[in-house]
Amino acid sequence: MRLTLRSTSLSALVTITLMSLLVNCSGGRSDIPMARNGIIDLRDYEFNTHVTLDGEWRFIWHDTSLGTTPHEGSKINVEVPDSWKGYRYEGLKLPGKGSGSYFLTILLPEQVASYAIKFPTAGTAYNLFVDESLVGSAGIYSNEPELASPKYEPKIYNLGSKVNQIVLRIDVSNYDHRLGGLWESITLGRTSEIYHHRENKVAIALFMFGTIFVMGVYHLGVYSLSTRGVAALYFGLFCLVIGLRTLTTGEVFLHELWPSLSWQFLVKIEYLTYYSGIPLFYLFVRTQFPDELDKRVGQVILGLSSLFILLVLLTRVETFSSSLTYFQPLSLLIMIYVIYGLVLAFIRGEEGSTMVLIGFLSIVITFINDMLYVSNIIHTGHLISLGLLIFILTQAFLISMKFSKAYDTIDTQRIKLERTNSAYQSEIENRKLAENEVLKHRDHLEELVEERTEELQIANERLEELSRVDGLTGIANRRSLDEELDREWKRMLRMKQPLSVILSDIDHFKLYNDTYGHQQGDECLVEVAKALKASVNRPGDLAARYGGEEFCIVLPETDLNGATQIAELVRQNIRALRLPHKSSEVSDIITMSLGVATLIPDRDGQPGVLLEAADRALYQAKGNGRDRVERNLTD
Ligand code: GH3
Ligand code: MG
Ligand code: MG
Repeated sequence: MRLTLRSTSLSALVTITLMSLLVNCSGGRSDIPMARNGIIDLRDYEFNTHVTLDGEWRFIWHDTSLGTTPHEGSKINVEVPDSWKGYRYEGLKLPGKGSGSYFLTILLPEQVASYAIKFPTAGTAYNLFVDESLVGSAGIYSNEPELASPKYEPKIYNLGSKVNQIVLRIDVSNYDHRLGGLWESITLGRTSEIYHHRENKVAIALFMFGTIFVMGVYHLGVYSLSTRGVAALYFGLFCLVIGLRTLTTGEVFLHELWPSLSWQFLVKIEYLTYYSGIPLFYLFVRTQFPDELDKRVGQVILGLSSLFILLVLLTRVETFSSSLTYFQPLSLLIMIYVIYGLVLAFIRGEEGSTMVLIGFLSIVITFINDMLYVSNIIHTGHLISLGLLIFILTQAFLISMKFSKAYDTIDTQRIKLERTNSAYQSEIENRKLAENEVLKHRDHLEELVEERTEELQIANERLEELSRVDGLTGIANRRSLDEELDREWKRMLRMKQPLSVILSDIDHFKLYNDTYGHQQGDECLVEVAKALKASVNRPGDLAARYGGEEFCIVLPETDLNGATQIAELVRQNIRALRLPHKSSEVSDIITMSLGVATLIPDRDGQPGVLLEAADRALYQAKGNGRDRVERNLTD
């Protein structure tokens, strides 16, 4: 797609360059006949195409205000196209304003043929005489300033069949413009060819106007739709201004579209398009090359142009038309500065700068051409529309290039995005699967933890059994008690000494748990164990937790009386703790029942016998009302 675009715009560029060459060819070729001393010799001219009646015309000054009297001998040669201003006439320098007659004798081929004259605008009113008879006019010719009236009205005069020669006389008057005279080339040709020529010019000019105008409207539309891009605004306005200018120069179509339009107004529009076109062009170029062109220069240009525009709006042609002399060097300077910026951008190799340079240069060059043409320095015609057309085409090409680039970017981004999306989607699916797995495992894990906790509890209990200390109270445990009792039994057997055992049990402890909770029950057991341990202090004595809320004290080398005393001491020490027990049937504090048993071990007996005896005594203590000590004397 890009390739086709490039080749189309390139071929368009070539076409336009050729067109401009063709336009320019019409002037200044050496084999084209030129007027000499008021005579143009066309006797050998083929008349395949029209001929411009450029060269030396005879001229006679009519205006008497300078003190001259027109007579045959005072005729001078003046150039057409040109203004008469500045020519020496009877020792005087002719002013821009005044009136005079132009004379040209045209020598024709010998065959009879039908001829026509294409008369563009003149400065600023004229009467045309062919062979002494009035053929036509534009505006009102007069050598009285009050009576003369200017008009721009390009016309074709059909001269009918002619042979041998034609004598042209054109009376021109100007009291409204800075410059007077025949300032545009008059062309002569066969009638049909002249009409054809005009149709071509009309077609090209209307094509230019249409293209430029549409481009202007398009860019203003772009500007109104998008918030960014003052570039579009400046360019759109510039196009409209140049489009309008196309209608006020050359064939002056504005006059045809709007015949009642005054000459003053028409010239105002022509000047306004020039004075506003320059700053708009600069502002637009600056949006494209902000680094190369100074912002302050733009402000100065805008300020100065505004002054010129005001002058045009507020004054009449005779006043403001002289401002052109000052605006032209100014616009030339601006154009040189713009060229400098463009070349700088080109050297820096900014994107699309070759294309842009071609486009901009075409405007700059044609603009300079127009300036020189308007000043009668060259006779190429108005070319700014052509330059603008080339510029628009390069811009269109650049815009399409940018668009196609943008589409490419969008496409690659879209593909990337789609890939990322699908990657995310599969990631999400993977995560869902993983989450389900985790959920499954979590249930399993909970079961596992429960199992492990149970196992751990059992293991802990075993460990406690293996250890010698009771986990809750910190005193000796049952296992320790059994071993100690066994050892002391054997020792007392050898020593033939009495061995006593006290078994104790907290009264109504079940009710205590029920009343205060199991936790407080445990704390109570800890207190009771401490008191128990504190009650025995002889080496060899042992206080142990027998199980639950039952405790056992082993007292070696202690007889029944001694053991009973200890038991009584224990009972009192427990009471002394004053641990509240409001639901006890015995007291309102924690109490204990104790059973005491004593014996001297013999070879046949077992430590278990002693414990059983103590247990029986404890049973008695419970039966006898609790909170008491009973002893077993049976053995
Ligand atoms: P009695 O006066 O007849 O001994 O009445 P009692 O309620 O104390 O009866 P028993 O000796 O049969 O009850 C013992 C209670 O002790 C059963 C249990 O609730 C409690 N117990 C046993 N071991 C523990 C323990 O380690 N901590 C706690 N808090 N309570 C225990
Ligand atoms: Mg008990
Ligand atoms: Mg009890």
